[in-house]
Amino acid sequence: MTEQKRPTILIVDDEKSNIDVLVNLLNGEYRTVVAKNGEQALKRLNPIDDDIDLILLDILMPEMDGYEVCRRIKKNIDTRGIPVIFITALGEMENETAGFEIGAVDYITKPFKPPIVRARVRTHIELKLSRDLCEAMAWEDSLTGIPNRRRFEEFFEFHWNSIGRRKTPLSLILMDIDYFKLYNDNYGHGTGDECLKTVACALKNAMPRTLDLVARYGGEEFVCVLPDTDSDGGITVANRLLDVVRNLKITHEFSVAAEHITMSAGVSTVKAPITINSGTLVETADLALYEAKAQGRNRTVFLPCYIYG
Ligand code: GH3
Ligand code: MG
Ligand code: MG
Repeated sequence: MTEQKRPTILIVDDEKSNIDVLVNLLNGEYRTVVAKNGEQALKRLNPIDDDIDLILLDILMPEMDGYEVCRRIKKNIDTRGIPVIFITALGEMENETAGFEIGAVDYITKPFKPPIVRARVRTHIELKLSRDLCEAMAWEDSLTGIPNRRRFEEFFEFHWNSIGRRKTPLSLILMDIDYFKLYNDNYGHGTGDECLKTVACALKNAMPRTLDLVARYGGEEFVCVLPDTDSDGGITVANRLLDVVRNLKITHEFSVAAEHITMSAGVSTVKAPITINSGTLVETADLALYEAKAQGRNRTVFLPCYIYG
């Protein structure tokens, strides 16, 4: 396995000898990262690099104890999914249930018994990785591999709710392939699927900003969420995406819009303070898309969102 693929374990203990034992035990199969106190551990997790798969956390530490570190990890939405195993000395544990109540998944006791440590770690790493896989699959469109509609909805709601706080605009683009039914009917469904994959991949590669999202909205429709982006920015991105797809030059002899695959786009933008609900922005972008189709396709139309009041 490559360095990147090995699951990563964060070991938090104030005693160097404990850290050394655990690192030696686990370092072959896993990548290990260490922290000497709670504060260091939380710093390592925040801002989250998203690389920690399991935390081994000593309970007895000066200043912030393991319970408090665990509480904070579980309170943070970015880190709450990382399993925590408490490390405790035999006889040191006053209240075994306390750790489970604040979200730990297991205990390991000092002095360490290597086979037990390995077994517990393996179990919880496997659970974490399969959960990650399920989550990734639930968010991914199975045909194209780009985010699916469900992911879009979650991402969009999250950013919608932060517009008021961030006081920045948000733009939404809805895109639809032109005359795609004729493409399918004439070249076959399999070729249609290949075309969707190529288009999705090109759209994704054309969105380098990590804050933006492009997803498959359904059928041959794609959606793009652009946080912190005004209407000019939204129109620019839409035109760029349409250009990228045009430049793929996927032959479509039966399209009335061009000799190759093209898309139409509808763009709309909102600014804080918001008096409408998020569905209105989607509806407005959809209306703009409809207008782009009506005007002859292969183009972008912008409609301001306030037409609804
Ligand atoms: P317009 O320019 O107005 O958008 O016309 P259109 O033909 O693209 O639109 P319409 O909604 O009539 O047809 C969409 C077609 O997209 C219908 C279906 O054959 C095709 N389609 C939708 N999803 C898939 C898919 O997953 N795979 C394939 N191969 N085709 C799909
Ligand atoms: Mg279409
Ligand atoms: Mg359609």
